[in-house]
Amino acid sequence: MATIKALEGRTVHQIQSGQVIVDLCSVVKELVENSLDAQATSIEVRFKNNGLDSIEVQDNGVGISSENYETIALKHYTSKLSSYDDLSSLQTFGFRGEALSSLCALSKFYVITARADEAPKGTKLDFETSGKLKGTHVVASQRGTTMAVEDLFMNLPVRRRELEKNIKREYGKVLGILQAYACISTQARISVSNVMARGKKATVFATKSNQSTRENIANVFGAKALNGLVSMDLNFELQPTKTYSHLSETENKRVRVLGHVSRPTFGEGRHAPDRQMFFVNKRPCGLPQVAKVFNEVYKSYNISQSPFVFADILLDTNAYDVNVSPDKRTILLHEQNTLLDMLRGSLTELFESEDQTVPQSWK
Ligand code: ADP
Ligand code: MG
Repeated sequence: MATIKALEGRTVHQIQSGQVIVDLCSVVKELVENSLDAQATSIEVRFKNNGLDSIEVQDNGVGISSENYETIALKHYTSKLSSYDDLSSLQTFGFRGEALSSLCALSKFYVITARADEAPKGTKLDFETSGKLKGTHVVASQRGTTMAVEDLFMNLPVRRRELEKNIKREYGKVLGILQAYACISTQARISVSNVMARGKKATVFATKSNQSTRENIANVFGAKALNGLVSMDLNFELQPTKTYSHLSETENKRVRVLGHVSRPTFGEGRHAPDRQMFFVNKRPCGLPQVAKVFNEVYKSYNISQSPFVFADILLDTNAYDVNVSPDKRTILLHEQNTLLDMLRGSLTELFESEDQTVPQSWK
């Protein structure tokens, strides 16, 4: 029998990194979330060749202080979480300190950063594939941080080939994710552009800062998207079904679903089903079960169309778990079935209560 021995550190790093950064979407999601965590009010996402050549995310956030240059891209180094208990009250998108170290292992990655007191002077940081700081030098930079990822998956040939083959679809998925961040982030302006091989730059969309989610939706999808869109503010209390429920008698039961949804009686046009965005406490996530409820209730009034849905589920940070998959895309909702039942009821009530005209203020 072959001897059992520990994997080399380098190998472990590459294996783990490939689970954190699984595709183009993970890159963009991690970088944009970092910018939001850094309190940016302006975030620019720039693709070259749909992201195949490079992805750059520039923000005007707090920047990185020089004492953190050495550790910023080391695995499990984070400024956001210090103990497991903090996870249940997490206010930031990031918490595992894995994204930057993974990007070092999977691409040509560099950072330019400047704190408020340093701009217009900034520092460019280069890293080894392990995440160790390789060198720094002074460059011009406004306050904030730019992170650049070039030649993603260059050292994972199979994944690189897959990426090249499916780049149109991947890029489409990335835009879907960015649309969700742009619509929910009322505090930040988010702009997205893409430069193709012939050097033509196209702005894909741009929001402004300090706008409502409705204004963001209009900026991202065009003003027409607001036609027939009803604002919703559903409130209910979860009634725990099991005696061993984590919910105590008095707390953590309130759920609020805030957002916008198409009125079923609105006759014009057809909303593509992919214009459905779901969030938990402003964190964009895929919630297939929640989506199913929206679609089912809507279909019981209107079988020929799919609704536009923008729904942010606000609930106690103890009532869900984001630490389910390495890419943090899956969210585990405790008491999910109860929540879905209550949501179905509230949504039905909302649709029942709508009369046939859309008030001016909703247009
Ligand atoms: P995490 O977000 O889980 O902490 P990351 O690997 O994504 O881990 O980032 C590591 C650390 O780098 C963060 O904790 C943060 O302190 C810093 N950082 C990352 N991106 C930015 C940014 N855009 N602006 C300021 N600091 C950043
Ligand atoms: Mg992060």
